[in-house]
Amino acid sequence: MNFLNSKYNILCKLCKSEKAIVEVPSQKIKLCKNCYNQFFENRVKKCIEKYKMFHPDNKIGIFLSGGKDSATLLAVLKKLYPNINIQGIYINLGIRYYSDITENTVKELCKKVNVPLYVYSLYEKEGYRIDDFIFTRFKHKICSACGAIKRYLFSKIAKELNLDVIATGHHLDDIVSTMLSLFFQGDFDSIIRLSPVLPPIYPGQVKKVKPLYTTPEKEILYYSLINELPVEKSTCPHKDYSSSEKYKKILDELEKENRQIKYQLLSVFSKKLIPLIKRTQKKEEILEIKKCIKCGEITSSPDQICSRCKRIELLNQITDKTLELSSEEFLDLIKSLEPDEWVIFDIRNKDEYEKRSFNNAKWISPEILDKSNRKIYKTFKPFKTKRIFIYGESEKLSYLLVLKLRKLGFRAFNIKHPEHLLQKNNFVSEK
Ligand code: SF4
Repeated sequence: MNFLNSKYNILCKLCKSEKAIVEVPSQKIKLCKNCYNQFFENRVKKCIEKYKMFHPDNKIGIFLSGGKDSATLLAVLKKLYPNINIQGIYINLGIRYYSDITENTVKELCKKVNVPLYVYSLYEKEGYRIDDFIFTRFKHKICSACGAIKRYLFSKIAKELNLDVIATGHHLDDIVSTMLSLFFQGDFDSIIRLSPVLPPIYPGQVKKVKPLYTTPEKEILYYSLINELPVEKSTCPHKDYSSSEKYKKILDELEKENRQIKYQLLSVFSKKLIPLIKRTQKKEEILEIKKCIKCGEITSSPDQICSRCKRIELLNQITDKTLELSSEEFLDLIKSLEPDEWVIFDIRNKDEYEKRSFNNAKWISPEILDKSNRKIYKTFKPFKTKRIFIYGESEKLSYLLVLKLRKLGFRAFNIKHPEHLLQKNNFVSEK
């Protein structure tokens, strides 16, 4: 699917009066904005009706990530069902240089589509950030820790807001790629979670639905662009590429040979495999209710401590979660350190460094961030026993380097607002 080059004056295949702006290759049609929107929204509506996802009197919650999928879902549901009670929800995970920016984008989106927004701030309410997992054994799989925290919060917030249904932005590509990934891992129980509707199994649970179940990802992207939905462009600094991303790429390649491949796989999984797995599951396994002895949420863990509470216990053992220092805090700290106990790196461009830099700061190219972990480790290995302070033109870039160094076992810190540091004349050197 492509946006059409504006110099071609092709009329929309359906209305035959407006100029076509987008091509939908699976349908072999070129459409104008209105007809594309109608085509897109009709498919979502059919999916909702086919699977009886909700009733008009239900209260529906949509957890917004700032990305195109949940943004599109919110906009389409509001357009299709203007009188239904829809609630936008944003969980601010306290991820530095990401969560606050995304919160603003989500606020803009909700204002545009006229949906109320509830914001839950993890740091303000619970005193920790997802970033803090960098100090735990989850430092190489922060998304997994984040997933456990979010699942707990979905359930907690759904109860607080009296939601009847949670609608999620999972789309065709997400579902088929995850199904394949789980299939090859032999994790058949988790495949069931990919059904278009997940009714509550235990009392107090909320029904979950996937209205974009049959919608391809590319078409969601085009819907969000055509309708100018506010979508966050920056990515989470912890994003890792899961195995389902690998399968997405494989499926995109297969799609070039067979345009229906994703729908064919979806049909085999949902009509054959999922019913088969459900039939072989033992009833008592499904109905056994265990509550976490710490938070009271449902858990399948034999020790009755849910995965979220286990991860929080790990965070509670960390006494110092410092990853960033203001220039004042940094200057105070180095007064208490011997000169051979620390080192400072300037990752601005070389011209800036040569003009003016912190006294004794070593220069390193910001391109270090594009290097492999092996290369980064080798570069910083001589400073393994020291505290490593980093500052750069963009605090986000220096923070990303700090996160990478922490994962590699270095004691690294980001310096915020380095311009303050550079303004303190007695500490800078003119090169
Ligand atoms: Fe959480 Fe990972 Fe998503 Fe970041 S990318 S918000 S850490 S799941």
